[in-house]
Amino acid sequence: MTKIILKKGRDESLRRFHPWVFSGAIAQIAGHPSEGDIVGVFSHEGEFLAYGHYQVGSIAVRILSFSGEDVLGPDFWVNMIRRALAVRDASGLAGCPQTNCFRLVHGEGDGLPGLIIDWYDGVCVTQAHSVGMFRAKNAICEALKTVFGSDLKAVYDKSSGTAPFKAGLDLVDGYIFKSEGFSDDEQEVLENGNKFLVNWTEGQKTGFFLDQRENRALVGKYSTGRNVLNLFCYTGGFSVYALRGGAVHVDSVDSSRKAVDMVGRNMALNGYEAGLHEDICADAIDFLREVPEDKYDLMIVDPPAFAKHRGALSNALRAYQRLNAAAISKVAPGGLLFTFSCSQVVDKESFALAVFSAAAQTGRSVRILDRLNQPADHSVNIYHPEGEYLKGLLLYVE
Ligand code: SAH
Repeated sequence: MTKIILKKGRDESLRRFHPWVFSGAIAQIAGHPSEGDIVGVFSHEGEFLAYGHYQVGSIAVRILSFSGEDVLGPDFWVNMIRRALAVRDASGLAGCPQTNCFRLVHGEGDGLPGLIIDWYDGVCVTQAHSVGMFRAKNAICEALKTVFGSDLKAVYDKSSGTAPFKAGLDLVDGYIFKSEGFSDDEQEVLENGNKFLVNWTEGQKTGFFLDQRENRALVGKYSTGRNVLNLFCYTGGFSVYALRGGAVHVDSVDSSRKAVDMVGRNMALNGYEAGLHEDICADAIDFLREVPEDKYDLMIVDPPAFAKHRGALSNALRAYQRLNAAAISKVAPGGLLFTFSCSQVVDKESFALAVFSAAAQTGRSVRILDRLNQPADHSVNIYHPEGEYLKGLLLYVE
């Protein structure tokens, strides 16, 4: 196994269990590792620190183990998936009769940097964000079979859009495992008793935005008697909860035709008649411009990440401010606004500041009723605060 030897004094972050080794911290690579190989990381003084996946780039090693345990053996993946499942069990998700979809592995949050696994009632959709995890996909699939046995219906790898492109990697999405009789690319799942269709081949990301589960439930709680506008609705997660919560009407807006078509199917699946909702394919900002000022007394604004890297931060903050000013100005008096950012590089404080500036721009009286986060299955490793990405505010607009 290749040894990576750090520069003097550059072992501190690893000793605090931060799971990344930056290329600038490396003094010497004793060998010629291929990308995705497991390497050993040592201090300048020669002390063993960790094992991890090697990759060319700014993050040179993603740590899999800080102890000397055997990270190459088959038990490693089984143990890590069992540990992740224990966390979902502790938070009441695994085996819950009302919710049969959740994030099973959340990268660094579960000690597996570069790996996402979402569980859709027996179908696992995997996404590798590193070469090492992409190369390990068959071993990970075998571990899933061991852990879940006959409960596992299929494993679908959807890494083509996330794994870094490398010559020699066969970046084609597809099934790594299908149980006998399994044939569908679509699955009906339950989330807090609401039904949703998830399609991992046609849908965005792994098929469904599992990270909004708790916030959707909160929207349901506040929806009674309200006229709701769900902007950036995707397949209508918030919309279904709003009607369940007693909304009088819900308009759902997304620029993706495929997503909007799914809203209609999800509404029908839950028994909501056409008169209760309208599903609109449009640009959210254009739509908002035409919205009358007293029409909607509950709005949800959940845009895609505006900043994918640090360099895009200031433009993203301006975009959040513009979008939120447009929304705040159109919420009916006494109405509510659920506003979100899923950009990892925009922290809670900066987002709150952008929304504060937006409110000031409109001149309306705005109160913060709640601060919103990602749920427990999108776990954050305390030694890796970068894992926190979803943030939101619930505002009351007078
Ligand atoms: N709230 C959703 C997730 C939103 S993801 C849920 O609970 O499932 C962001 C969505 O914004 C995607 O569906 C994407 O198609 C949509 N989108 C991106 N740009 C848009 C735009 N300019 N106008 C409207 N929708 C847009």
